[in-house]
Amino acid sequence: MKIDLHNHSYCSDGVLSPTEVVRLAKEQECDIFALTDHDTTDGLVEAKIEAGKLGLEFVPGVEVSAMWSNMTIHILGLGIDVNNKVLQAGLKQHQEFRAIRALKMARGLGGAGVVNAMEKTQAVAKRSMITRTHFAQMLIQEGICKDMKSVFKRFLTGKKPGGVKSEWAQYDEVISWIHTAGGVAVLAHPLRYRMTNTKVKRMMSDLAANGCNGVEVVTGSSSADEITLMSQWARELGLLASSGSDYHGWPNQRVRIGRLQDLPNQSKNILNSL
Ligand code: AMP
Ligand code: MN
Ligand code: MN
Ligand code: MN
Repeated sequence: MKIDLHNHSYCSDGVLSPTEVVRLAKEQECDIFALTDHDTTDGLVEAKIEAGKLGLEFVPGVEVSAMWSNMTIHILGLGIDVNNKVLQAGLKQHQEFRAIRALKMARGLGGAGVVNAMEKTQAVAKRSMITRTHFAQMLIQEGICKDMKSVFKRFLTGKKPGGVKSEWAQYDEVISWIHTAGGVAVLAHPLRYRMTNTKVKRMMSDLAANGCNGVEVVTGSSSADEITLMSQWARELGLLASSGSDYHGWPNQRVRIGRLQDLPNQSKNILNSL
């Protein structure tokens, strides 16, 4: 069974439309697929319709930004009710912060000599949401940086010209939004936060103590050792194991939809809870 419970469309920072992402998932012979855009559910209605046409099992999802210990982390809400008011109010708060943050980022980049950063970035984005990835694409198009990695390093983090302090909701609040909307809360890509492993485990343990249901044991970029370790910690902390590629469709991204390594046998599989 091929599952992929973490994917993006152009409703956040992916390249393809919700319909196109679903078609690609079907082509890759995915059996169960979730669309999980950053802080928005805008693509879910369209994706569900296409999945229905193709006979692909569809899980409505969202990847919510959150604060843990002053750092930004990502918590997936899977199997959410799109119409839930509490969840939508929370996501709206994040969308508003994104809009304010984009203006601040553009101002910072302006100070570093990038003219009309906001207008140029809006031209890159297909929908209203502006993510840091859109700023990154703009800076690459303008020939200011050569790739994503260098943009984030030179411009979009910490005290760099386009760096803005994150103001997402706290992780426990985000988990409660997801639960109120009937969803399952899953910590996304636990080993991608630039934390020591000791800190990652502390984060997972805090999340588990606050009702988080699962963790992504397998991601598109996991090594065999990472999968083994995450599976072990998930079991220790009573977390369900999830699997998702974090597909965005960027041309240089090696990640493909539905091409994931298997979850270890001893893992408590998230599919039983969706
Ligand atoms: P945002 O949620 O707007 O702050 O943007 C975060 C997104 O930017 C992540 O989901 C990634 O897709 C992307 N991203 C963050 N850091 C990096 C990086 N160092 N290199 C490439 N992409 C990154
Ligand atoms: Mn992203
Ligand atoms: Mn993420
Ligand atoms: Mn993601």
